[in-house]
Amino acid sequence: MESFDYIVIGGGSAGSAVAGRLAVDGTRRVCLLEAGGRNDNILVKTPGFMPFLLKNANYRFETVPQKGLNGRVGYQPRGRGLGGSSAINAMVYIRGNRWDYDNWAALGCTGWAYDDVLPYFRRAEANERGGDDFHGAGGPLFVEDQKYANPTSHAFVDAAAALQLRTNSDFNGARQEGFGLYQVTQHKGERWSAARAYVEPIREQGNFAVRNNTLVEKLVIEDGRVTGVQIRRGGKSETLLARRGVVLSAGAFNSPQILMLSGIGPAEHLKAHRIDVVLDKPAVGSDLQDHIDYVSGWETDSDVPLGQTLKGTLKMAAAILEHRRKRTGTMTTPYAEAGGFWTVMPDSPAPDVQWHFVPAVLEDHGREKVKAHGFSLHACVLRPESRGTVRLGSPDAAAAPVIDPNFLDDERDMAVLRAGVRLSHRIAEAPPMQAFGPKDRHPVDLNDDAALDDLIRSRADTVYHPVGTCRMGADADAVVDSTLKLNGLDGLWVADASIMPRLVSGNTNAPSIMIGERCTDFVMAAERR
Ligand SMILES: Cc1cc2nc3c(=O)[nH]c(=O)nc-3n(C[C@H](O)[C@H](O)[C@H](O)COP(=O)(O)OP(=O)(O)OC[C@H]3O[C@@H](n4cnc5c(N)ncnc54)[C@H](O)[C@@H]3O)c2cc1C
Repeated sequence: MESFDYIVIGGGSAGSAVAGRLAVDGTRRVCLLEAGGRNDNILVKTPGFMPFLLKNANYRFETVPQKGLNGRVGYQPRGRGLGGSSAINAMVYIRGNRWDYDNWAALGCTGWAYDDVLPYFRRAEANERGGDDFHGAGGPLFVEDQKYANPTSHAFVDAAAALQLRTNSDFNGARQEGFGLYQVTQHKGERWSAARAYVEPIREQGNFAVRNNTLVEKLVIEDGRVTGVQIRRGGKSETLLARRGVVLSAGAFNSPQILMLSGIGPAEHLKAHRIDVVLDKPAVGSDLQDHIDYVSGWETDSDVPLGQTLKGTLKMAAAILEHRRKRTGTMTTPYAEAGGFWTVMPDSPAPDVQWHFVPAVLEDHGREKVKAHGFSLHACVLRPESRGTVRLGSPDAAAAPVIDPNFLDDERDMAVLRAGVRLSHRIAEAPPMQAFGPKDRHPVDLNDDAALDDLIRSRADTVYHPVGTCRMGADADAVVDSTLKLNGLDGLWVADASIMPRLVSGNTNAPSIMIGERCTDFVMAAERR
């Protein structure tokens, strides 16, 4: 049997950071196991090809029918292949709010207050604006200003300013609130996934085994300790040994799935799937939180925004050529070019809604083709109260888990979303946007709560930030402790978005990478004990 010092499961945002950091100095034998491919093709590297990635390198999970969404089935894209979801995401670089991390610490997660995590965000980051108290300049993760933004994205920021909503040129600095253009995880006009940052530069090192197309079926557990993993590769199952430990980084859906397949989870549920219970842990797969999001949309008379018309397609073809030659222009778009954070409820401790402005008409996550030019404005609930679950649908690791985000179960989420959508319309219909001749694609009487709620329930869905399914906490019920070690077993850490005890107020790629960075230090600290 092959053996390593450490095995990292999942080469996504967090797993790439953990594996790369553990391997880089050459003193440990590290194996990174990734179910998908290498993800080093032009579709992944070219930001503007993101819509194609929603079909490729993507698990394309679905939720169970959502009561809060009029019984609709939600869509849950997740990255498959090196980089994980950072290889298919919108590249928006956001860390969340200081309040989020201080709240984690207040909930008992010692060492996770904002001042504790800030050094790890900085350590990861190479911000092209340079380093300062909030930003790093020497890390592996490139963070850059957009090389080009559509005129409608600039107009959106002007529109917010016209409503006296403050502008913000650095959402990750001293103040999160305001509107502006997003910084992105790109370098020289290409997507910079976590794998490009942490794995690719050292992939050929002798102590580092990167195994693609390798599905982890379950953990091998002996006498209260994780000693290896069972994998499936090329149709055959085999066991790999981990002398010092295993880090589970398969993401908010697959990490709880792998734990449950290994006998760690809610006992009755495991027994129903004829899985021997190793640890009865009801919190595994519970506490699922996600950003529920409503996309308002306008078609425009103007063809300045992107559009799937003949003219739009010709412009895109020219943009692809420009990108191939110079790595500049429209094909560097993250689509979510502009946005902002604002407080819509009087008692919120921090901005409670985030907006993403997209200079294109977006329907059904881009899966529906709309032959028009226009723009879309996402508004999402930053700190939802609704809680859902991830459960097994089958004892087969290759099968999709059963995902129930339970969206809009809690009425407070609807109150925030309603106020957010109202503000979306005020901004998108302010004078700077009028120059493009916008026409509302989903008109509703915004003063009519019932009509607005019904529209929201018929169109809202995720903005792709599931967390919480292996939550960290100080209580014995928590899945991991504040050093990310699994409560009740030795030799296992969990490091990815699943460990967040509360969803952060923003996008989740940078926080997941930060979690990976932190986990590396916890693993190394355990070596010294
Ligand atoms: C469409 C989309 C757009 C997004 N946009 C943004 C954005 O603009 N900005 C932002 O900050 N965040 C964004 N996000 C969210 C962000 O990318 C994720 O929260 C983050 O990447 C999660 O990191 P992770 O390490 O938890 O999991 P992932 O990055 O999803 O990694 C999990 C990895 O584990 C692997 N894996 C799973 N099961 C197994 C198994 N059994 N065996 C082996 N390997 C396995 C997967 O293949 C995957 O590579 C977006 C997400 C999506 C899907």
